Amino acid sequence: MKNELIARYQQVQQRIEKACESAQRQGQVQLLAVSKTKPLEDILTLARETEQRAFGENYLQEGLEKIDAAKNQFDGELEWHFIGPIQSNKTRPIAEHFDWVHSVDRLKIARRFSEQRPNDLPPLQILLEVNVSGEATKAGITPEALMDVAAEVVSLPNLTLRGLMAIPARADSLEAQRQPFIQMQQLLKQLQQTYPDLPLDTLSMGMSADLEAAIMEGATIVRIGTDIFGARDYSNKA
Ligand SMILES: *Cc1c(COP(=O)(O)O)cnc(C)c1O
Repeated sequence: MKNELIARYQQVQQRIEKACESAQRQGQVQLLAVSKTKPLEDILTLARETEQRAFGENYLQEGLEKIDAAKNQFDGELEWHFIGPIQSNKTRPIAEHFDWVHSVDRLKIARRFSEQRPNDLPPLQILLEVNVSGEATKAGITPEALMDVAAEVVSLPNLTLRGLMAIPARADSLEAQRQPFIQMQQLLKQLQQTYPDLPLDTLSMGMSADLEAAIMEGATIVRIGTDIFGARDYSNKA
């Protein structure tokens, strides 16, 4: 099991390297290992046997338990990214325990993070989630509203706005997968031009099924779960 995990992880790293080479973007893409529903042991194995340090979690309670259990290992070098839907009454523990949040989808949430981030920690690194496929049921800020939300967020203390995140609708061809990612790249450029002095260097996009298309169009973080840890079992999740 352990060797299988390492082998899958290395295959994902090779896919990323190959996609970076094709796009002439070597060294520009970080792998976020999405460990939701997977045991702490898998995280520790990856951290022990590879250089992987950044892990993504979607479910607050599960994420907090893993952070706590791992906190005295690896010299506190593990980096925790919250990537799931956020309820506004659950922002405090996220602000207190995570390093990054990818799924900031409304101003109210950003304001709460700003108020609740402990002063003795570095600013919370945040990304604004964009509903780039325009699906009514999906979370995320519409592309039309993005610049207005960003204008408020950049003025909040204890947060650093680093860029944008998207979870586009599934598409099967490479060509179809590229379209929302192209739009995301344009939105990030617009933000960068508006705020040239801010470190807006991050585009979190690309999952197991579409990481190649995302890297082609400028992803700087790809979020990979299934192809590293195997299929997920949600039977114990509500
Ligand atoms: C689960 C999840 C992923 C990982 O998806 P895979 O298809 O398993 O690689 C990435 N991003 C978000 C926001 C997720 O919820």
